[in-house]
Amino acid sequence: MVSCVRYTLDSTGAILSTGDGWDEFAIAGSAPSLAGAGARQLNLFEIVRGRRVHDFYRSLFRSILDGTLPSFEMPVRWDAPEVRRFGRFQVQRLGGRDDVLACLAVTDREEPRAPVLLLQAPPAIAAGPPLPVVPLCSFCKDVKLPVFGQVWAPTEQYLAAGFPTEVRVSHGTCPGCLEQLAGWLDSLGA
Ligand SMILES: [Zn+2]
Repeated sequence: MVSCVRYTLDSTGAILSTGDGWDEFAIAGSAPSLAGAGARQLNLFEIVRGRRVHDFYRSLFRSILDGTLPSFEMPVRWDAPEVRRFGRFQVQRLGGRDDVLACLAVTDREEPRAPVLLLQAPPAIAAGPPLPVVPLCSFCKDVKLPVFGQVWAPTEQYLAAGFPTEVRVSHGTCPGCLEQLAGWLDSLGA
């Protein structure tokens, strides 16, 4: 099953328009604040975190818009709690314009699974003490285990190990994906 969600960005990362399927994509991806008109007030750089990830996207967008790179594609997981989604992020210029990026989130394959509650959006109003934070890699959807050192693993492994599920998930990038981004940055000549 292949499905695509289209959206456009300007050179600063501001979301200009979103296509069919965006709302479902945003809600399934535990980002309900991005559904509907919410998306149009946001900037990609507010959604993705980390200086190196920002550097990567800035260089990528510059290379695409100035025509150095005709298009770019990278593998990304677009998981929802009840499904693993294996897909790709594609970006190119919109119709030859040098100020608008056409982005495509493609899902190539889905695998149903027992719902990973960790990935559900937390209730808007949470009473009690603040929840512990678990970083989730935006690219491969591994989570950082609450153990000493940089240990990241699939969410299923996190749950099987009995780590807490009452947490707040924050978006981050695992060391493996950061290394991959660094390799792409090099290839962009940045
Ligand atoms: Zn990762």
